[in-house]
Order: sequence, then structure tokens, then C-alpha cells
Amino acid sequence: MRRSLPLAAGLLACLPALADYPDKPVTLVVPFAAGGPTDKVARDLAEALRKPLGATLIIENIGGVGGTLGANRVAKAAPDGYTLLLHHIGLASATALYRTLPYKTLEDFEYLGMVNEVPMTLVGRASLPANTYAELARWLDANKGKINLAHAGTGSASHLCGLLFQAAIKIDMTTVPYKGTAPAMNDLLGGQVDIMCDQTTNTTGQIESGKVKAYVVTTTKRLAAPALAKLPTAEEAGLKGFNVSVWHGLYAPRGTPKAVVDKINAALRVALTDADFHKRQEALGAVIINDARLAPAEHKKFVEAEINKLGPVIKAAGQYAD
Ligand code: ASP
Repeated sequence: MRRSLPLAAGLLACLPALADYPDKPVTLVVPFAAGGPTDKVARDLAEALRKPLGATLIIENIGGVGGTLGANRVAKAAPDGYTLLLHHIGLASATALYRTLPYKTLEDFEYLGMVNEVPMTLVGRASLPANTYAELARWLDANKGKINLAHAGTGSASHLCGLLFQAAIKIDMTTVPYKGTAPAMNDLLGGQVDIMCDQTTNTTGQIESGKVKAYVVTTTKRLAAPALAKLPTAEEAGLKGFNVSVWHGLYAPRGTPKAVVDKINAALRVALTDADFHKRQEALGAVIINDARLAPAEHKKFVEAEINKLGPVIKAAGQYAD
């Protein structure tokens, strides 16, 4: 009886904090650089979550090592609902790719629900002589050994996409890692690198204004957005099995109280119906999740399936764990 007193007192001390959650701003970690595609999803989502969650979300960009630095920061944060992570397919591809990670993807997070799916585009610097995918394929062939492909670090979506592309055309390129595709895009605009795979949330505006050349989209169907509708799918361009969709999800450190997880999940479901969020994201080619994967358990099941799916895909593309 005596031993249970401190425990009961501890529980009581936690209860008001839980009931009041959130009573201060929440940090939303983006594991890539500011101004990039993941950051754009996070900033739009933070705005849509503000009312239903009842808190301001402050974005913290922790880029590096393909998104694993930011993910690790959240895995090790206090499980109180005040540090969350917005991550994408890289959470699964890094798990399938690295021999060891400083966190356990399926054990060290509370899964809070999925957000959206975003296609990727294969883009090139404006000064490339190739205007169509067929011309690009010829240019790549003629320039073997001299091609630079930018990406957001080993394990990132652009790394995965670039890997699959190199495997599909059987041409190895010099890969140049950045802390996100915002700085990578700057170098592509400056002509320092040749090509890159990136989400439409980052490339649509640049394609529209002719600052980069676009060759294919990585979806199985063509996209509706005006700037992207003319682009062939990778399959149409002859790249069999080259198909990447960048899904995003929301996470909290393991041990975050169930009541807090439920509250964030309920707020997320409301945020994903926000008309402004839809308008902004859909204009950039994103599709908002509206299925069972909004539930934490289904979200986790999906990520586990993605890890299992990506392992053999990455190996087949000739890449082994670091
Ligand atoms: N597009 C990046 C990636 O390849 C991430 C980012 O900068 O948002 O994963």
C-alpha cells in the first residue's frame, strides 16, 4: 500500500497536463530542409491542424542523412505530444536500406495517421539539350560517367527514386546528397547538377515557369494539374516498373499517452477535410488520404508492408545497406 502512494501521486500529477493537452505550441519536426516538398506538406498541415488541435505548430527542420536525423530526434523526444514528426516514404526506405539505424521504426513511434500521397517527377536543369524523355535517354547514354543526380540523402524519396531510375536505364550516375531537395533544387536551377527526382509539391512551380525541364511522372496514370498533364508516365516512357508514390504520415515518440494520440488523430482527421489544405495540396498534385490508413493501427501496418516491399526493390536496384 505504502509503495503505491508515490505512483498514485505521479499519476495524479500527469492527469491535469493530459486533460489540458495541448496548452502550449507543438513542435513539428520535418526531417528535411526548409522550403522543400516535405516542408510544404508540413506547413500546410500545421495550418490546417491549428484549429482542430487547438495549438500552434512550430516547424523545426532537421535535415540530413536521408531524413534519419530528424526521425531520430523525435524517437528520442519526451513522449508528451509536444514533439511530432511529419515524415514520408523515406521512413520505410531508410529502414529497408540501412544496416543499422539509431531508432526502431516500428517500435519507437506512435503512429498518428497518414496524410497524403504525392507523385514524383524526373526533372533536369534548364540548360540540358533534351526536351523529351526519349531525348534525355539518348543524352544520358552519350554522357555516361559525367552525369550528376541530386537527392536528399541516402534513404530519402529522391534517393530511392534516383536509384530505381538508374537501375531501370542501367546507367550509374554520380549522386550528390543534400539535406533536402530545396537546396538540391537550387543547384539544379543553377545548373550545378543535371537531374533529380522530386515530389510535385516542389517541382510544379518550377516546371510551370520553365526553370527546369520535366520528363516523366512516377505515377501509373498521368496527372491532372495543368503543368504536369502533358508529362508521360514512366511506364509510357518505357521505364517498366518504375513507379514511386511518396506517402506522408504523422508520428509521435513511443509512449505518448493514448489520450494524446487519440486527440491528435481526431484533429488530423478534421484537418484533412480542410478546404484550404485540399486546394493547396491538390494544386501541387497531392492526393489527401481518405481511407483506413487514417487509423494509427492501419497506418503502422501500411508502413510495415512498405518496409517489406522496399527491401527487395532496393536490393534488386543494386543498393545494399550502408
Ligand atoms: N524530396 C525530398 C526527398 O527526396 C525531401 C525534402 O526535401 O522534402 O525525400
